[in-house]
Amino acid sequence: MKASRLLFVLLAVLLVFFWRPAMFFTGGGLVSAGHMVQGFVNGFSRAGHVGTPQELLETVLIDNKTASHVERAVAGPRRKPEVMAVMCMDPRLNSEVILGDSRGYYDVVRLPGSVLSDEMIEAIELAVEEHAVELVLFTTHTDCAMEKVASGHEANRFPGLSNLVHKREEKFEELMRRPAIAERVKSGKLLVKRFKIDTTTGSLLAEEKK
Ligand SMILES: [Zn+2]
Repeated sequence: MKASRLLFVLLAVLLVFFWRPAMFFTGGGLVSAGHMVQGFVNGFSRAGHVGTPQELLETVLIDNKTASHVERAVAGPRRKPEVMAVMCMDPRLNSEVILGDSRGYYDVVRLPGSVLSDEMIEAIELAVEEHAVELVLFTTHTDCAMEKVASGHEANRFPGLSNLVHKREEKFEELMRRPAIAERVKSGKLLVKRFKIDTTTGSLLAEEKK
């Protein structure tokens, strides 16, 4: 009897202290399992061949209808973003997998080469001011195709993006000087951190100092 009571207390203590990681990682495991199952389904076409854009749209709408029904049936509470992640548009990067979150705690904004256009800077300010985001992760990634384009003979095909890739440091400093950002960073209400994503593993690596 004493042993079972001890076990009960031990389980209760474990639950109190470890319920968050237990729930979070169990959920993450289920999401990963879902990704794996979906991974067996190739593309959008049910017939297994590339369809027309119109057929693609029809499939997207069917998928959306199904997903929204499921979402209504099993949705948890709505989340407010607490972190913003700026990422490259590279299709090898899956933000949900990299950040390990499917709950909506991230504002994720993606442009090729993680370029800090004026609009991107405004989006970061908006996330900080309107969504009360307290952490901004500014990421680039290894083997970035946009960085290669910007430094190669194709740069003139995408002059706006290429120019902004070369101006990244200058634009980053401009972002940090914006009053909404600078004041919050100074008062400790906001952290802006830079990382390089390992494109192969999805790991966040410390951005080397320029
Ligand atoms: Zn890239």
